[in-house]
Amino acid sequence: MPQVAVCQVADCAYNQDSTCHALAITVGDGTHARCDTFFTFPSKGGDAAATGRVGACKVSGCLHNVGLECQAPGITVAALQDTADCLTYTMR
Ligand code: SF4
Repeated sequence: MPQVAVCQVADCAYNQDSTCHALAITVGDGTHARCDTFFTFPSKGGDAAATGRVGACKVSGCLHNVGLECQAPGITVAALQDTADCLTYTMR
């Protein structure tokens, strides 16, 4: 599974020091490359010893998407307005 190389969404419960610690995130709501795993919580979660990976991606229109799985070498996630978006998304 591709690594979440950088995640700049500091507010996310899984983010510490610009690193995602969710073991497997899900990206996309079908058309928008949004991180579905993003949420806020009073304490941090995930595995602090691990770096997050992309478990599934529903953005079939992305160049890196093969069979609803991400094939990019790694992705970058950042906050855009109120959402956490995959910046590695590339239109086919
Ligand atoms: S790079 Fe494309 S296929 Fe990979 S997680 Fe981002 S939107 Fe999904």
